[in-house]
Amino acid sequence: MKLKFWGTRGSIPTPGKDTVKYGGNTPCVELRLDNNDLIILDAGTGIRNLGEKLIEIGDSINAYILISHPHWDHIQGFPFFKPAFISGNQLTIVSYESENLTISKMIADQMNKIYFPILLNELKATIHFKPVVEEKFKVFDAEIETIFLNHPAYALGYKIKQNGSIIVYISDNEPFDRYIAQTIKNVEAHIIEKFLASSGDPNQRLFDFVRGADILIYDTTYTPEEYIDRVGWGHSHYLFTLQMAYEGEVKNLILFHYDPSHSDEKIDEIYKKCVKEIKMRKYKFECTAAYEGLEINL
Ligand SMILES: [Zn+2]
Repeated sequence: MKLKFWGTRGSIPTPGKDTVKYGGNTPCVELRLDNNDLIILDAGTGIRNLGEKLIEIGDSINAYILISHPHWDHIQGFPFFKPAFISGNQLTIVSYESENLTISKMIADQMNKIYFPILLNELKATIHFKPVVEEKFKVFDAEIETIFLNHPAYALGYKIKQNGSIIVYISDNEPFDRYIAQTIKNVEAHIIEKFLASSGDPNQRLFDFVRGADILIYDTTYTPEEYIDRVGWGHSHYLFTLQMAYEGEVKNLILFHYDPSHSDEKIDEIYKKCVKEIKMRKYKFECTAAYEGLEINL
């Protein structure tokens, strides 16, 4: 499998001179399976540039787009994804459907005539929708597994396995704390129940999910100091990111989904602190800070 990062920023795009190194587009990762089949992880603003490249290549497109959740930074690029405007292309959008929000509505609402000039049903590509819960299913010849995360309303993490290699994508997840979960009830109840079902550390279900990943792409929104003022917002600080990689015995950790207020300089500093912690704690995994254009071959 091969990965290319087209958007690494959380929450909102952050163009400008202070974000040139890591990039300002919101989450989008291109995943090529061993026979070049295309899976796209999230449709943040980074998907626009991916679309431009796909048009340049010129082949007809049959791709799966795995959406973590409907917050703007994960769907906002879709209306600007040129392959969706071309007849003959096939796109299958995979996500969770809550009671009042089908996947089709999740995408269509941001394209109604108030917000965008073209309606979803006016796009020329054939678009399929595949609702999922926590389950295993096949996409091309890869095995996909999903897990509910601790994030306001809901979000999904994805594990992709092919020919013995494992990639895990968890863009938005907050460390689960039993007390906080009882006081801030902003996550769907059935998800909280899943975390509470564990008798030990409620985060164990995620440690088990990421176990043995060759690549773990994981939420690194905050510093531990910043997190104190942002409890309940649905994101991790970098010490928890490192703990996730350690507990899950992953081989490579990719820091991802940076806070919009973090400049290149700040992310450099966070990365250096991560490397120092990894050395001090004698962790075995490699660590890379994702940037737009980063390519990884497995
Ligand atoms: Zn996000």
